[in-house]
Amino acid sequence: MTTTLTPLRLPPQHTDSGDRLQQYPPPDRWDDWVEWDNRQWPKKVPRHYMLVPTVCFNCESACGLLGWVDKETMQVRKFEGNPQHPGSRGRNCAKGPATINQVNDPDRILYPLKRAGKRGEGKWVRVTWDEALKDIGGRIRKAFVEGRHNEVMYHVGRPGHDGVMEWILPAWGVDGHNSHTNICSSGARAGYAFWMGFDRPSPDHANANVILLISSHLETGHYFNPHAQRIMEGKMAGAKLIVFDTRLSNTASMADTWIAPWPGSEAAILLAIANDLIATGRYNREFVRRWVNWEEYLKSQDPNPKPPITFEQFEEALKQQYARYTFEFAAQESGVEARVLKDIAEAVANCGGKLATHNWRSAGSGNLGGWQVARCLFFLNVLTGSVGVEGGTSANGWDKWVPRPHKMAPHVKRWNELTWPREYPLAYFEMSFLLPHFLKEGRGRLEVYFTRVYNPMWTNPDGFTWLEALQDEAKIGLHVALTPTWSETAWWADYVLPMGHGSERHDLMSQETHAGQWIAFRQPVLRAALERTGRKVSRTYEANPGQVWEETEFWIDLSWEIDPDGSLGIRQYFESPYHPGERITVDEYYGWMFENSVPGLPEAAAKEGLTPLQYMRRYGAFEIRQGALAEYDRMLSSEEMAGAQMEEVTGILYTKAPMTPPKNIVPTPAPVTKDLGRPVGVMIDGRPKFGFRTPSRRLEFFSTTLRDFGWPEYATPEYIPSHVHPSRVHREAGEFVLLSTYRLPTLIHTRSANAKWLVEISHSNPTWVHTSDAERLGVMTGDLVRVETEIGYFVDKVWVTEGIRPGVIACSHHLGRWRLAEGEGTNRIASALVDLREDHGEWRLRQLRGVQPYKSSDPDTERIWWTDAGVHQNLTFPVQPDPISGMHCWHQIVRVTRAQPGDKYGDVYVDTKKSHEVYRRWLSMTRPPTGEWRRPNWMLRPFRPDVSAYRLADSR
Ligand code: SF4
Repeated sequence: MTTTLTPLRLPPQHTDSGDRLQQYPPPDRWDDWVEWDNRQWPKKVPRHYMLVPTVCFNCESACGLLGWVDKETMQVRKFEGNPQHPGSRGRNCAKGPATINQVNDPDRILYPLKRAGKRGEGKWVRVTWDEALKDIGGRIRKAFVEGRHNEVMYHVGRPGHDGVMEWILPAWGVDGHNSHTNICSSGARAGYAFWMGFDRPSPDHANANVILLISSHLETGHYFNPHAQRIMEGKMAGAKLIVFDTRLSNTASMADTWIAPWPGSEAAILLAIANDLIATGRYNREFVRRWVNWEEYLKSQDPNPKPPITFEQFEEALKQQYARYTFEFAAQESGVEARVLKDIAEAVANCGGKLATHNWRSAGSGNLGGWQVARCLFFLNVLTGSVGVEGGTSANGWDKWVPRPHKMAPHVKRWNELTWPREYPLAYFEMSFLLPHFLKEGRGRLEVYFTRVYNPMWTNPDGFTWLEALQDEAKIGLHVALTPTWSETAWWADYVLPMGHGSERHDLMSQETHAGQWIAFRQPVLRAALERTGRKVSRTYEANPGQVWEETEFWIDLSWEIDPDGSLGIRQYFESPYHPGERITVDEYYGWMFENSVPGLPEAAAKEGLTPLQYMRRYGAFEIRQGALAEYDRMLSSEEMAGAQMEEVTGILYTKAPMTPPKNIVPTPAPVTKDLGRPVGVMIDGRPKFGFRTPSRRLEFFSTTLRDFGWPEYATPEYIPSHVHPSRVHREAGEFVLLSTYRLPTLIHTRSANAKWLVEISHSNPTWVHTSDAERLGVMTGDLVRVETEIGYFVDKVWVTEGIRPGVIACSHHLGRWRLAEGEGTNRIASALVDLREDHGEWRLRQLRGVQPYKSSDPDTERIWWTDAGVHQNLTFPVQPDPISGMHCWHQIVRVTRAQPGDKYGDVYVDTKKSHEVYRRWLSMTRPPTGEWRRPNWMLRPFRPDVSAYRLADSR
């Protein structure tokens, strides 16, 4: 194609490449990019933009964005992809550009607010940031002075940053971090961690021969935009794509082989594949011999074995252990024909050591024992030797980089049982969704409770128990909601403090999006643009809309407020590394890390005559490494080996030399320290290698941890029948399995009610029902059904489809937002106005009105054409914590009937007395530790305390 050039200095993208349009403005033009003003069309009027890189905050992928700042108005006009970002490479999903909707949302919170009436009454007064900091800081200081450190808790939904809270909370001396992970990914994380110490996979989809996904990952899962690009590259290069998904998702539609197993049967299928590889000898014998802890396994079977112990004995034992997992058995459990499963096994057997696999949520988060799904999936990587190699699957820690700040406090010597209760010694993250149940039982109270980008009342199961806790000032003294937008939970806060959207804040991000390593820098676009013009901005809220702030500066200022004179030992961590005794600025905090803690960045910046901070402000991202790199196979250096001793029985190398603090602070398991010192590696075939971050420094087919902490029957990869196993579902009585976890590609869990483009696309969550089941129930698309759980019910319309397995129904969790007041609370473009009543723990929520057009500063709100806000199903789910991983097992056994007289669309009924009984029943399935340790101290734990806190007797 030839482009006719206009003799004007625009649009430069037409001039560079001669015969084709450029996809992206080149970085050297980002200070002054010129395009025709589309609002003046057909006149050709040039418009000048400053393009400022930042990072999307609308899911965990951390894709790059470019904020287009109109140089005349100094307002952001739109967001597009940042081509310099190594993970997303300029591409985004629909949610990235929709950041502009969030910025311009007419219902957003622009100023700090303090509760004026009773909690939940909806009365607020505007306060200054100084007033809020003084009040909150004063209460925290008092709690610390009185030794009530465990009463301060920070609870995060979408973190959207790396490293900052690891800096803040230990400096405060609290074990006060809480997350959303146990309603998200703890199941899969546990499965991966028992193998290799790291808790996330990093598949190299682009170079794989076989890609096996347990989820609708290609369209909506973890890191899905960066992954989707690479899955399609792999597929175009000939890779076979296999998808397990009970629902016909968009991902399933792209697969070469799609199967729809009965929910919870996935591990049975994976073990049938493993059995086939083992029985036919089609596995990477050398890899397994070198890297799997098979000797430990054999010794566990026979504590006094006759020497020599041989690998052949292990191979024989493997054969015997998995022989029962035939294709026929897996077919019976899953409902998928044995011949189809056999075909999948053939593909895996022929992957040539290039098997990219992924399970994150999906089966890992739906089922009792779901953690074994990820463990059995990674078993296939181990058997095929597809670990840390091109086209295989790595550990996240090998592909992620989190720079170390200038000064970090030591690990705290406290343990908070409100988040890490002793009933769950192996819980992979905090037992966050049980917090209100623990408060209800009187296990503790909270003086100051921060919720940040978190809406537990709406997102978590058993939301009305959350409501009961949040409204009780005896249980929660001060609730501070840090949020850019209203939510059901923020309505019950004491302070609502507006924090910036993705384009209004600083954060560091690094994700294992592919075989490589990068960091990206989120920056407040308007602040950065003003600073480019030479204007000084001392706090980000001076540049953001209203007085919307950012957390990094907020935490620094709050820390100074808590400890103004430094007497508590907190302030020292928030002083400038460049100007001792002065308050650190965000430029200094990030600049110091870019200068000192990111390999290659200072050199790359120097080449362009920039400081590392200037480089990151200009490009928004830096690529540290390309390609797969397996940490375990690294030879130890002579420095690491100096003075090291080998333990004869295990081959593990120990040293007593002091450890140099690592520059990459990706959360890693603590080493199991012995009298010999701390482990630094392991001898493999006579060569000192770094190994895996497990107690054995090998891949743990056999987990001594699971054995020693009361679960010997699951010490090796096994299939655990789910709580929704077919034998537990009485289909003749109208029972179904409800899949409630699936994502819509265009929505952001609880955070898209403020994005009009996204809500216009997706605003309904009907219940999927198979045609045969619909016939049985006598319902058609659009009819109302009542879906009864163990603690209540919701009323939804149905969508009759062939795209779901008979006996299973599905409903997306993204919708069903609600508000209690006419013009306030959750965004009006996405929420229903509801009436909420309670009587002795029985809660009834009824939609009074759906979405309607309304007048606002955005004329589009008068053009709203949809009325549906969806149905809030999660309220009706009891908590179902897996006794090992702690993951909430989302799938529900439900009874479905036609709606009853008087039922209305969106109705929700819940009895929280019943929900507490269900909580107690699941709690009784746990096995608390019987030894001296409350938790294996080698296991990764966010904000790992000092080892002394792991001892039951020692910790406070
Ligand atoms: S995949 Fe996630 S981070 Fe990337 S553009 Fe979409 S929402 Fe943003």
